[in-house]
Amino acid sequence: MPVTGRFAPSPSGPLHFGSLVAALASFCQARSQQGRWLLRIEDVDTPRVVSGAADQILHDLEAFGFSWDGPVLYQSDQFERYRYYLEKLLAEGSAFACECSRRSLREQGVDSGPLGQIYPANCRHKNLSPEGHSIRLNTESATSVAFVDQVYGRFEMNLPATVGDFVLRRADNIYAYHLAVVVDDELQAVNEVVRGADLLENTCLHILLQQRLGFSSPRYLHVPLVNNALGVKLSKQTGASPIDHENTARQLLAALEHLGHSPEAGLRNCRPDEVLDWATANWNPVRIPALPATSAEAIED
Ligand code: GLU
Repeated sequence: MPVTGRFAPSPSGPLHFGSLVAALASFCQARSQQGRWLLRIEDVDTPRVVSGAADQILHDLEAFGFSWDGPVLYQSDQFERYRYYLEKLLAEGSAFACECSRRSLREQGVDSGPLGQIYPANCRHKNLSPEGHSIRLNTESATSVAFVDQVYGRFEMNLPATVGDFVLRRADNIYAYHLAVVVDDELQAVNEVVRGADLLENTCLHILLQQRLGFSSPRYLHVPLVNNALGVKLSKQTGASPIDHENTARQLLAALEHLGHSPEAGLRNCRPDEVLDWATANWNPVRIPALPATSAEAIED
């Protein structure tokens, strides 16, 4: 089957060097296998969207020589799809409504796992109405979820013990990233997901959800995070500086080095699309170092 990869930035701010690394790795992984490379704007969490950020991201990607296949998919146009699959899970008894807030769980003193509060199944059998409540995936019958990452190797999590029933739609009707990403990857026929290692744990949630929805799982490749001088993951939240349109080739070369590749010095003076051509022709994911993924973080639900 032809390879389909994607880059899926959230428009909560401009691209920074860490996002450039993820874009470059997913691009090279798809294009080096003569695959398609899609662009998806993950604006499902509408209150966190920064006005103008999506257009800026497209503009930045073009300035760095990236070209994607087909139209850009915006998650904000896909709410009907998410609703369809959520209702399917509810109807099958795989999901349930929950009246617990983050605060009430904190007051209850619930334990924390790698992705935040471990949900203690309070509402699993309450049969609450979905209206005005959050919806969670019932993980009761799930045991360990494992996958083999192309960089980090075998990764396994016991979801009921370390995460619990996770949120698919919030009480304010915002669909969770987990549901959106799984539905979109399936409907866009994405079969190779390349993204930052901060999402390794999240992948186990996605695989369980794929199984519940009868979707096949893509292959996964997580790339090492870029940390700032203090050892903290570069992100919009930690104030990483946006990529600039000067020295695009040099920034791409630095991203390639982060990914374990040794680009020729002469490429510094080339156009960014020429660097991308070199990168695609010389791409070897075996070279990517499995640097510790120390800053795992929960995607806000
Ligand atoms: N939208 C996520 C981010 O910007 C990436 C999600 C993914 O690639 O699955 O961090």
